[in-house]
Amino acid sequence: MAIKNSYLQGVLEDVKKRNPGEPEFLQAVTEVLESLEPVADKRPDLIEAGVFDCIVEPERIIKFRVPWMDDNGKVHVNRGFRIQFNSAIGPYKGGLRLHPSVNESVIKFLGFEQVFKNSLTGLPIGGGKGGSDFDPKGKSDNEVMRFCQSFMTELYRHIGADTDVPAGDIGVGAREIGYLFGQYKKITNEYVGVLTGKGLTYGGSLARKEATGYGLCYFTNEMLADKGDSFKGKTVVISGSGNVAIYATEKATELGGKVIALSDSNGYIVDEDGIDLDLVKQIKEVERKRIKEYVNTKKNAKYVEGCSGIWSVKCDIALPCATQNELDEKAANELVAGGCKLVAEGANMPCTPQAVDVFRKNKILFGPAKAANAGGVATSALEMSQNSMRYGWSFEEVDGKLQGIMKSIFENAAKAAKEYGFEDDLVVGANIAGFLKVAETMKAYGV
Ligand code: NDP
Repeated sequence: MAIKNSYLQGVLEDVKKRNPGEPEFLQAVTEVLESLEPVADKRPDLIEAGVFDCIVEPERIIKFRVPWMDDNGKVHVNRGFRIQFNSAIGPYKGGLRLHPSVNESVIKFLGFEQVFKNSLTGLPIGGGKGGSDFDPKGKSDNEVMRFCQSFMTELYRHIGADTDVPAGDIGVGAREIGYLFGQYKKITNEYVGVLTGKGLTYGGSLARKEATGYGLCYFTNEMLADKGDSFKGKTVVISGSGNVAIYATEKATELGGKVIALSDSNGYIVDEDGIDLDLVKQIKEVERKRIKEYVNTKKNAKYVEGCSGIWSVKCDIALPCATQNELDEKAANELVAGGCKLVAEGANMPCTPQAVDVFRKNKILFGPAKAANAGGVATSALEMSQNSMRYGWSFEEVDGKLQGIMKSIFENAAKAAKEYGFEDDLVVGANIAGFLKVAETMKAYGV
């Protein structure tokens, strides 16, 4: 799709001029503006109010030095980011990513997407994202602790339970959240819900750990049910083997699917008998080892070096749950050739625009990240509610609310797509539904 609306063309040109050398951010903005074209045509009031111009510019970008000392006494310096993108409908909310690939473009794209995703959940949360180019891989617990403490020593002054509430993302799990929360509490002398994804002994929510993966499968189930189908008897390929991938595997299996492949950044495993998830959890969550260890125990399974080949494994359903742009045009064509009927994004922007075009052309059902993986942030918002009440809901209660939220995200995205003449296009539907709530609010506030 290319933008025809001259006003939106101008907005995109300005974004390109203002953000040179930021390919991920420009990719995300282009995709969103393309699908907002029917809204711009119908709603001149939003153009006059300057909403489109404002929504592509973060409210605040915070960038800082993060010095830390390794176990040998050597000093290292990383760069920290927090991008507070939009607080129209609630406090900034979005994860922290620790990965060597982190830079301003990556955090900006994630923060931008988060604005629409959070709006889609129907809960009062704005959008933000943060992180650092620190690589937790191969670091000792003490090194990770010293890094997290240094990171929070700067970040604490910019966040707050009613201002900005970060969470985990790639490289930030329970261990890192513990160190970050501990440091925030130490500095501020406050015990508040300033982070989500916390441990269960200090304000965490039951079902938060499972929420993104489970939510992805609830959303996928809605997509299937809409076409009179279900997970039953379907083969499923999932990329990654981190938080999202593990709990997507668990729920897809519970719903009757058979997950036959998982990966990490080195390679992928295929187990035609169905992935043994207890073994994967032991390798990834307990021992923090590589996915290739799986074949040492499961002799019938195979390991293939290189992660991109995973999409050549024949399947009915593909759930990319690793990282951005991991599924390109070639991979999309391989999926189509292998008979895949549905792709839903567990990771953020894992499919390139060219891959999404292949799915459109071949009538593959496609669930975009901002709708399909919103279960994580939705449950984070439920954690915030529980923290405010100083109360905790049961696993079933949180999981039940999560299911309801994923169902309504699907319904709202499908409805918006139909209303604007793009039936079954959930990319357009999710962008429009997410945008409208934020846009109406921004207009109500005035410039
Ligand atoms: P984790 O760090 O727990 O896991 C990431 C997984 O992806 C690891 O197995 C990692 O392998 C793998 N990986 C990274 N790059 C590649 C690659 N190029 N090819 C194959 N595998 C790769 O992160 P999460 O599971 O939390 O996050 C995964 C994605 O989901 C991200 O895009 C994140 O933004 C998104 N997401 C996460 C949410 C959450 O609640 N956690 C919420 C919404 C979205 P390795 O160990 O080799 O690096």
